[in-house]
Amino acid sequence: MRDYLIIVTGMSFGVFIGCFISVIVLISRKRKHREAIITLLSKDNQYLCDDCLTDMCEISKREEVIEICSKNHQIRKNTDIKCSRCGNLKLTRSIHS
Ligand SMILES: [Zn+2]
Repeated sequence: MRDYLIIVTGMSFGVFIGCFISVIVLISRKRKHREAIITLLSKDNQYLCDDCLTDMCEISKREEVIEICSKNHQIRKNTDIKCSRCGNLKLTRSIHS
């Protein structure tokens, strides 16, 4: 019984540490992505669409770019402005100057 309790406690602790580490990794990755987006947009005051931002910042999900951009007040959303990279007329992001 005591051994069983030790094993269960050990496992719960392991799961807890595992979750903790994944949260830290997730937060730092998101911060890295946010910085990459801001750096990219600040350079030459570019207007970039979500697809190009996803591609250029090497972010796997487009949803993450949308989430980061909509939460950040520095980043402006522009409708029907030509993207500096692909040249398509679509929703683009830029930095408030
Ligand atoms: Zn584009």
